Amino acid sequence: MAILELVPESNPVLRTPTTPVTDFGPAFQKIVDDMFETMYAVNGAGLAATQVGLGIRVAVIDVTSDQSQALVIVNPEIIETSGEQKMDMGCLSLPGCWASVKRAGWVKVRAQDRHGEVFEIEGEGVLSEAFQHEIDHLNGILFIDKLSVLKQKMVRQRARKVLKRHERGQK
Ligand SMILES: [Zn+2]
Repeated sequence: MAILELVPESNPVLRTPTTPVTDFGPAFQKIVDDMFETMYAVNGAGLAATQVGLGIRVAVIDVTSDQSQALVIVNPEIIETSGEQKMDMGCLSLPGCWASVKRAGWVKVRAQDRHGEVFEIEGEGVLSEAFQHEIDHLNGILFIDKLSVLKQKMVRQRARKVLKRHERGQK
């Protein structure tokens, strides 16, 4: 396995809808393994292929703190939603940026697993958030795109301050 490099926000792959996965062979299996290793290495709760520069429709998710619910969603679609929630979320592609976006509180997702088997899965709370965040990525959307222009500016300014403080080695 290998840790993959996260692409910067300026990389156009992050803004381009992905193409469906049709080949579930060894090369794809390695990508999935590498995506898990990358996500866990940076303490992420989810990672979409676009974030490591790959324009294919796959994301890995694990919202637990002990790596006990590893999920792979290939060619996922949200087929049902209900309720509403606003949860503070960050994104590995937008270091230091945190904001809440209004999303469905519960979703049902239809996807394929890493071997191509179709399955359905439901999620609420953090898991619902993760499904919607990662599927947005696969559609070329970053969570910051969902904020007003003014809010985007505020979030980016705050992020810059946080990152500067980190560079200076303070907490
Ligand atoms: Zn993200």
